[in-house]
Amino acid sequence: MDIKTFINTDRLVNRFIELVRIDSLSGEEERISLHLASEFEKLGCSVIRDEAGNVVAHFPANGKEGTVMFCAHMDTVGEEYGISPIIEDGIIHTDGSTILGADDKSGLAVMFEMLEILREHPEIRHPELEMVSTISEEKGLVGSKKLDKSLLHADWGVILDRGGTPGTVSISGPTNIQMCFTFHGKTAHAATEPERGINAIKAAALGIAKAPCGKVEEDVVIGIGMIQGGIATNVIPDEVTVRAMARSSDNERLEFRITELEEAMRNGAAEIGASVTMDRWENYAAYRLSDDFGPLKKMADACNACGIPLVKRMGLGGTDANIFNAAGIPCIPSASGDNGAHMKSESIAIGDMVQSVYLHLTAVIL
Ligand SMILES: [Zn+2]
Repeated sequence: MDIKTFINTDRLVNRFIELVRIDSLSGEEERISLHLASEFEKLGCSVIRDEAGNVVAHFPANGKEGTVMFCAHMDTVGEEYGISPIIEDGIIHTDGSTILGADDKSGLAVMFEMLEILREHPEIRHPELEMVSTISEEKGLVGSKKLDKSLLHADWGVILDRGGTPGTVSISGPTNIQMCFTFHGKTAHAATEPERGINAIKAAALGIAKAPCGKVEEDVVIGIGMIQGGIATNVIPDEVTVRAMARSSDNERLEFRITELEEAMRNGAAEIGASVTMDRWENYAAYRLSDDFGPLKKMADACNACGIPLVKRMGLGGTDANIFNAAGIPCIPSASGDNGAHMKSESIAIGDMVQSVYLHLTAVIL
């Protein structure tokens, strides 16, 4: 039985196009969530939509024990509406004015095609499938955090949410620490008595200039992404907030760099007599998958059976795997074929999406 020949490429591409055309910015998922629930139902799943809009669909087993979860988030990054995909030489992309949203609509398209095939071919023996789609993943894994995990009973799972060609899996995910620095200065009239003020914007600038930022070492990134403060050009601002995040799968190195960041901000502020306070909170915790981790072995076996090379990558992107692994559902992020996620140059090769269906369906029925 060559399941690759069961894949209907046109159906898969049409499904993908249909999904990316549905606007689904984080926090505005009502339409896509209802659409997904109804499509899963049409394919024979029993569907639960929770209050947040997360969708959990169970597709009944056919002669095999156990349950396998697949998960792809339904929201997309960016602020643009009306994504208009273009197909050219086997590649799907946009005109460059918006992202494509293959992150993570390609994961969803792959999940639907798997169900289409299993429905069309009752001769394929398979366990129960647990198809999960989360809201607001891009806003910090909001959906998977809110989801009632007791709705899930998978033995293992695949998070179809990482870049690269099919066969690429993440064997680690980072801890994500969020920080808010508040610079405290002193307000004064900027024209009549500037000498009495301490400019919090300048303090923040001095701190940021000294701060480690970007890929500060192999496995540690720091992002400084938001700044807010000031009310008018003739008022010396007395308060500025700067938002930053730090990620690493090595918690010791992460803490070392966060201390460095905090010191840089403090020293910058001190140069003009300002002060700074820091709030921090953990957005999600790191995980690291060993070679004998069940889902990794499954993916290795499936790659082997399909003749697709297994590529193990350390990821610094957070995925729903951070949350589900922490909740005791062993799962692994695996590529659905997306390229250049979060960029307007994002694209996906149709051939890669087909390979992804082939690989993940093989992982289910092996
Ligand atoms: Zn994603």
